[in-house]
Amino acid sequence: MGDLAQKIIGFDLWHLELPVTSRRDHGIGTVEGVCEVVILRLRSEDGSEGFGEASPWSVFTGTPEATFAALDRYLRPLVVGARVSDRAAIMAQAANAVAHCTEAKAALETALLDIAGRISEVPVWSLIGGRCRDTIPLSCSIANPDFSQDIDLLARLQADGVGIVKLKTGFKDHAFDVMRLEYLAQNHPGFAVRVDYNQGLSIEEAPARVRDVAGFNPDFIEQPVRAHHFGMMAKLRQMIDVPLLADESVFGPEDMERAARDGICDGVSVKIMKSGGLTRSQTVARMAAAHGLTAYGGDMFESGLAHLAGTHMIAATPEVTLGCEFYQASYFLSQDILEEPFRISTGQVCVPDGPGLGGRPDISKLDHYAVAKAVAE
Ligand code: MG
Repeated sequence: MGDLAQKIIGFDLWHLELPVTSRRDHGIGTVEGVCEVVILRLRSEDGSEGFGEASPWSVFTGTPEATFAALDRYLRPLVVGARVSDRAAIMAQAANAVAHCTEAKAALETALLDIAGRISEVPVWSLIGGRCRDTIPLSCSIANPDFSQDIDLLARLQADGVGIVKLKTGFKDHAFDVMRLEYLAQNHPGFAVRVDYNQGLSIEEAPARVRDVAGFNPDFIEQPVRAHHFGMMAKLRQMIDVPLLADESVFGPEDMERAARDGICDGVSVKIMKSGGLTRSQTVARMAAAHGLTAYGGDMFESGLAHLAGTHMIAATPEVTLGCEFYQASYFLSQDILEEPFRISTGQVCVPDGPGLGGRPDISKLDHYAVAKAVAE
């Protein structure tokens, strides 16, 4: 077993543009052509490596350029020369070194956990509490403005044994949303259906539309209005019997505290890219549970590397009970960056057993898709 007291001596970055297979519209914006992520590689004295991913989206969490700069300029000096064992100290310093940039901090904590796990020869989930589940139910999002393409995707999902779909709503008109809900009810009654507005509704239109959609009795309705409209979230929650989930309104534990106090939701979408890492995500989920609220394993537009980080977090967090949405590596990217495919089996994400994250990126793919790099030769 390796030595956790060894120092981190390498800190390499790739800003990637990853081609995607379809257009996806959300209430706050569109992703088309490519999605952009930043990959971090840490190296330690004995040659061990750890990887982490930051998956920003400019309209939601932040930009890839700011993420790259946060890592390269502001977080690198805290990490190079530090001991692998001192993860908590490094993350505490990172919190104060640069405001926001939660995706950069998520990438850093992921890479620190990965390298510690590889050196200790244990999975990341064992470093953050131990495992509470072997599999996680997978949800795939339906978000193509051309619904005929999503009809093909729905058939593929059903054939693959995926049991949950999340309909992205509020980016076109209400009739389009109702038509798709009716299609799902008639043609795929076996799917559990969730609805996510991604802040797409105005204060004026939200009550009537959300009431209408609640009539289809989805598992939950997520974030109908803008993140800061806490008052309207609370009002909508009172108005419907279907659970209301907060996503953009709750990034980290600080937001969770206010969300619980103001009664804006019945549950929360927990994402390592919002909270700034795996352990802060666990805190959000536990705070939600302590207030009698549920937690869902959300994600951003990610590659399989960030999916792995989220999988380990959920594997070690019993409070995340609503499954996950780690579908992009399998159903959205033209090609994922992992050496071995992110594992899904009959609609369930499989929790890895190997050391660290249990998977690593193919460096030739990082070099191929990079638009910017800071890699020591
Ligand atoms: Mg959402």
